[in-house]
Amino acid sequence: MAAVDKHFGDLHVLRDINLDVESGQVVVVLGPSGSGKSTLCRTINRLEPIDSGTIQVDGTDLPAEGKALAGLRADVGMVFQSFNLFAHKTILENVTLGPIKVRKDSKADAEKNGLALLERVGIANQKDKYPAQLSGGQQQRAAIARALAMKPKVMLFDEPTSALDPEMVNEVLDVMTTLAKEGMTMLVVTHEMGFARRAAHRVVFMSDGEIVEDAKPEEFFSNPTSDRAKDFLGKIL
Ligand code: ADP
Ligand code: MG
Repeated sequence: MAAVDKHFGDLHVLRDINLDVESGQVVVVLGPSGSGKSTLCRTINRLEPIDSGTIQVDGTDLPAEGKALAGLRADVGMVFQSFNLFAHKTILENVTLGPIKVRKDSKADAEKNGLALLERVGIANQKDKYPAQLSGGQQQRAAIARALAMKPKVMLFDEPTSALDPEMVNEVLDVMTTLAKEGMTMLVVTHEMGFARRAAHRVVFMSDGEIVEDAKPEEFFSNPTSDRAKDFLGKIL
């Protein structure tokens, strides 16, 4: 695989990025605001085009566009800071829409799977409500269920708890921790250091568009090697 580079005009937002996430691995991405974490996530399913390099999902190159891209994109589930649910669909409809439209599942199958997923994230009893009727934590759990409904091979989380009231953070992190334990391949941008220590196999630290450190959590937190990581940890811990 070739390293990924990307610019926004004059800004070199991703510099020579080499990142290989093994199946079943949980990688937490840390780094200061503006370091390129969201852009990294968005390039992985080509919500953002790249200038050069290659991106593979499960051994297959992601094409730049076209029908094949839509298929491979379905392999990459994404959960954003803002829950991005369809406001005019019920929670169950939010979870079944993708499987019916993209995976061509029957409505009955999609509903059966969807309900099981809502059960798993603890909100099956909310299935007939609309997103605005749910708490932030419940909406984010619905967003996770919706992403899982596509049976992705990897899940990307971009600061999934940053927009939540503090008392709702743990209900979302608990769902993510369970997913991690079940062997889901995950790339998680978060400032939740407890989650990083508990669930991550690796911590990737980004600064100014570069991966500056890539280490096991215990190594990264106890013995960061770069000044940039030391400075970052000094500010947040
Ligand atoms: P992070 O998620 O680590 O805070 P981002 O990936 O959102 O960082 O942004 C990295 C840099 O790229 C920032 O300087 C940001 O202002 C810039 N940037 C992000 N998106 C765009 C865009 N669509 N056009 C121009 N610049 C952008
Ligand atoms: Mg971001």
